[in-house]
Amino acid sequence: MATNKVDLKVFTNIGELLTLQGVVQKNGRHVQEADLGSITKAALVCSEGKVVWFGPQKKLPKSFLKSTKSQKVQLLDLDGKTVMPGFVECHTHLIFAGDRSHEFELRNQGVSYQDISRQGGGILSTVKATRKISVGHLKTLSQTRVNKFTRQGVTTLEVKSGYGLDLVTEIKMLKIARALSGPHIVTTYLGPHAVAPEYATAQEYLHEIIERHLPKIAKSKLADRVDIFVDRGFFTVENAKEYFAKATELGLKLTVHGDQLSATGASVLGAHLNAQSVDHAIELSDQDIKNIAQSNTTVVALPSADFYLKLKYPRVRELIDQGARVALATDFNPGSSPTQNLSLVGVLARIQMKMTLPEVISAYTFNAAAGLGLETQKGALDLGFDADFVIVDGSWRDLFYQVGHHPVINVFRSARQIL
Ligand SMILES: [Zn+2]
Repeated sequence: MATNKVDLKVFTNIGELLTLQGVVQKNGRHVQEADLGSITKAALVCSEGKVVWFGPQKKLPKSFLKSTKSQKVQLLDLDGKTVMPGFVECHTHLIFAGDRSHEFELRNQGVSYQDISRQGGGILSTVKATRKISVGHLKTLSQTRVNKFTRQGVTTLEVKSGYGLDLVTEIKMLKIARALSGPHIVTTYLGPHAVAPEYATAQEYLHEIIERHLPKIAKSKLADRVDIFVDRGFFTVENAKEYFAKATELGLKLTVHGDQLSATGASVLGAHLNAQSVDHAIELSDQDIKNIAQSNTTVVALPSADFYLKLKYPRVRELIDQGARVALATDFNPGSSPTQNLSLVGVLARIQMKMTLPEVISAYTFNAAAGLGLETQKGALDLGFDADFVIVDGSWRDLFYQVGHHPVINVFRSARQIL
């Protein structure tokens, strides 16, 4: 009779292991260095892609070291290197066609955003190109961008739609997102990213989304959650309330682009509705900060977008000190944040938002996972978590220090090497 053997992967000779166990216990709030759960000369044992044991190697139970009738053991020597959770990139717009480098040049030479739009630039130029491109070509472009994240140790990646603004292209984008390989992918429908050119007003377009698009998106199961861009010239908080009510009724989770260019109250609305995250969150009042900090919603700061747009940076120090769970992401898109560089984001977080290195590490792992509703599976190497981790050449203290230097050498997802 055949028996089901347990497959064990035993990673030994780890110079330093960061489990983030303390971060998990504190739910990503008030993170201190001790919460990174550093263990030197460590071992990590995984079974069926999950962490089943970690600790100092000298305490590794001998039972994990030998294959038997009931278990098959694979030993992997990590040569004294540093091991830490894989990065979670929780906010990207990586599926798009065309590029807006010309626009970047114009903006830097003082041409206004309105003039660029009049010349056919801006988000609608990306919409036009994304509607036109073939599925195969768009998939290749998108997978190449995903691979760039994988090379930086990203093991969970959020991908938004929002460059179609019509149902056909939005579905095309979400299907491509679901088919991407490498990291674990979370998909987000962002139909209300801008007003589709076919509609005269935001209200008209939103009505179409609520009545016709959302039910089809929900039925297709292509989106894990929904997003909306609330700001001056885009959608209002009233629009967001209607949209979120319908999405919730359809069983979709919520996230929001809010308070980036102007104070709209969208972040507080998100927190009030138990959204997974409120992203940007720059224009917040003292009371907003208090309300969001006390909620279960993650604040996602996107400092590379603030850098490119020369905006203020969000008041992250105050948010964290008041107990908010703050995550970081690139906001990668061809207009306002044309970068996939995690090290730039982390360096800006440290310089411009006074985040400590342990806070940045937690923001780019566990806290970002929490922002995607994955706080029991991703972003830490605690017992029962997915064995998604990176091997760092040197110390974790070398991360988020030199822009462009991000010394990740190998990447594992569910204990299987993907880089
Ligand atoms: Zn965004």
